[in-house]
Amino acid sequence: MRCASDNVDVDRIETWSRYRNGLCDSCTANCCTMPVEVKLRDLVRLGLVDPFEAEHEPPKQIAKRLTKAGAIDHFNFKHEVFTLARRANGDCRFLDALTRRCTVYEQRPQTCRSHPQIGPRPGHCPYERRLDKARGQGGAEA
Ligand code: SF4
Repeated sequence: MRCASDNVDVDRIETWSRYRNGLCDSCTANCCTMPVEVKLRDLVRLGLVDPFEAEHEPPKQIAKRLTKAGAIDHFNFKHEVFTLARRANGDCRFLDALTRRCTVYEQRPQTCRSHPQIGPRPGHCPYERRLDKARGQGGAEA
């Protein structure tokens, strides 16, 4: 996906920046436009799957329900990995469109917790300065 400025392209890891603490404060959250693969325990923590359902229902059935509900885009049967649904513009369904902050931060999946230490280019992320921050107007912080 081509980004609006800074020559950052989420799909080209060579355009990514070295991550450092505090970078997220001014970023437009490009990392939250990448596909997020999650396990069943992540879905339970997010409240998308009931603990009882997770224990008693075959993952395939759960995936079917979640697909129908628009909560996931894909299910890998072999590895039992679910891919969270994204909005038409590529944003994660849990990303606040205005503040560009995660609305489920405390319950976010392990994949998100591990980024960018674990990912396509460890220690790097598709940082792009948020326009409101670039203009010095400040923005809503989570
Ligand atoms: S769950 Fe939160 S941190 Fe993870 S991709 Fe979605 S908005 Fe970003």
